[in-house]
Amino acid sequence: MYNHVTQEKCSFCLEKKQHIQNFRYLCNDCFQLLRPAKLKTNCLVSLYEYTAELRYILLQAKTCGDKFAISCLVELVSKNIYTQLLLEQADFIMPAPSSLWSRLRGKTDFTWFLVRALAQKNNLERLYPQRSFYWNWNKRSKLERSGYYPLESFHSPSKRYTVLLVDDVITTGHTLHMVGRSISAYYRILYLTLANSRNYLKGDKKR
Ligand SMILES: [Zn+2]
Repeated sequence: MYNHVTQEKCSFCLEKKQHIQNFRYLCNDCFQLLRPAKLKTNCLVSLYEYTAELRYILLQAKTCGDKFAISCLVELVSKNIYTQLLLEQADFIMPAPSSLWSRLRGKTDFTWFLVRALAQKNNLERLYPQRSFYWNWNKRSKLERSGYYPLESFHSPSKRYTVLLVDDVITTGHTLHMVGRSISAYYRILYLTLANSRNYLKGDKKR
């Protein structure tokens, strides 16, 4: 079934095993440990359940800034069919504001890398959430320097553009809901998260 053999190490188990077809950073065995999330609607897609395996590699990416972990997760999201279905509908892509806050707490902003990769691959302009979602201008200006445009730049009375809002983990969905509600008069919003921790966190703690 999988005929793509690579010499690259898997970013997850660090072994040279057979990778999933067309995947550079993730071996087939590790891929099998992930559980697709049930949270999938027309406008909100969470790709995987937030299991111990996924949490481990996300922590590697966010707290250690491990570039292989980041690449592995970006690959996992960008090659997913659900991601592609959402991207086909999107005019713009935007990171959730929570991702910026984690960056300011000294963590790597995984969502920023993810949004940049998806934007480049699909020729989408990047937007950032309204300034009211940030604590001050200084924080916002960090995003402006990295090629994001303010939401106001593109809303048009004649066309209702679609924005794909991206976050790493959805927990209560509160942040995504607030951002979505604030711009839903001007834009149609689609939501994409790597992981869904809504049902999973409690039962998964012991592992
Ligand atoms: Zn592996």
